[in-house]
Amino acid sequence: MSPAGKPVHIVSCPTCKRSVPWVPESRYRPFCSERCQLIDLGAWADGRHAIPGDPQWADDGGDDPDSR
Ligand SMILES: [Zn+2]
Repeated sequence: MSPAGKPVHIVSCPTCKRSVPWVPESRYRPFCSERCQLIDLGAWADGRHAIPGDPQWADDGGDDPDSR
């Protein structure tokens, strides 16, 4: 057996391109962290599921005193 000479497969995080060792400890592989995983999944979902119409975030100008 070779305890220290085991080659570790390294992958790049699709989100931030950081090197991620492909080991059981890297539970979010191929992502480096849960954050990058969520970012990538969010970007993927955003690209695939094109929501018709913009989300109702048009909330600017809510405190405009002239609108009274
Ligand atoms: Zn990352």
